[in-house]
Amino acid sequence: MTGSKTVRSAYALADAGLITVDRLAALDRVAARYAVAITPALADLIDPSDPRDPMARQFVPDERELELRPEESADPIGDEAHSPVEGIVHRYPDRVLLKLVTACAVYCRFCFRRETVGPGRGGLAPTALTAALDYIARTPQIWEVILTGGDPLVLSPRRLKNIVTRIAAIGHVKVIRVHTRVPVAAPERVTAELMRALRSGKATFVVLHANHPRELTIQTRAACARFVDAGLPMLSQSVLLRGVNDDAETLGALMRALVECRIKPYYLHHADLAPGTAHLRTTIAEGQALMRALHGRNSGLCQPAYVLDIPGGFGKSPIGPQYLSADGIEDFNGRRHAYPPCHADTD
Ligand code: SF4
Repeated sequence: MTGSKTVRSAYALADAGLITVDRLAALDRVAARYAVAITPALADLIDPSDPRDPMARQFVPDERELELRPEESADPIGDEAHSPVEGIVHRYPDRVLLKLVTACAVYCRFCFRRETVGPGRGGLAPTALTAALDYIARTPQIWEVILTGGDPLVLSPRRLKNIVTRIAAIGHVKVIRVHTRVPVAAPERVTAELMRALRSGKATFVVLHANHPRELTIQTRAACARFVDAGLPMLSQSVLLRGVNDDAETLGALMRALVECRIKPYYLHHADLAPGTAHLRTTIAEGQALMRALHGRNSGLCQPAYVLDIPGGFGKSPIGPQYLSADGIEDFNGRRHAYPPCHADTD
């Protein structure tokens, strides 16, 4: 059992026994560049005696984070290019992101928004929030509002209720989606009051970010059950990460554990070109091979879409393996079968 406080510095990491003292100076430099936070729930999951621990790889800073590659970018998915007003990203016609806060319960070492997330930067100011909601209200093609950040569930239920109620009052918004890592990082925040805050009468989905089956602890599973039992269906998004979930057994176990929690796996993201994260990225070919393995071994319920956010702000595209080609179709065992080509009726 580690401490009862969130670890926020290299010194606190050493105090908690999560790093050895010889790494202190180097990791202090990393922590000065990119925010660090490891909640007690996550600290308990880290095995400091294992140099390849998949939890440590996700949350404990690494010396390699200061090595930048030319292809990496501070805004790898191009949010800025699609921000008509502060707090809004309007990339696709029928939906917007509403970035409520820059803070998170935990700071993941691979985060694609690592240049903009961090503590102490506050949330969207009240006037900016009103301007963002006005933009949504005057843009009738917006069917879905996605609450993100940072992590929107670090806000108090009272503030969330106020925001969700104002969004729900906009007639053309039919769906609200909440992207969060809080059930993994701080499951104690998932309370009955939070359920009341998020229930607005609009279809509301909660999307859990989880990358390894060990993240689905008893407490996290109970937190997720509270959402689903409250009528807030859950989806998941995971990031494919080298040394964390880039083997078929771990990835399959993660997807099964999610489904067992009544969470439908939604996206497997190819890791974005965020600064200092090359050591955590796989190749796309490796990701496609893993998707083939998932297809071969696991229930259809366990199949997320493997997607890439195209650098520059051009949106997500599916990059999973292809099964159909001119010489037939491949089955789940990798065998090929002829399939008659379809001809359009020409008369
Ligand atoms: S919780 Fe999400 S936004 Fe926050 S650091 Fe992790 S990946 Fe980034």
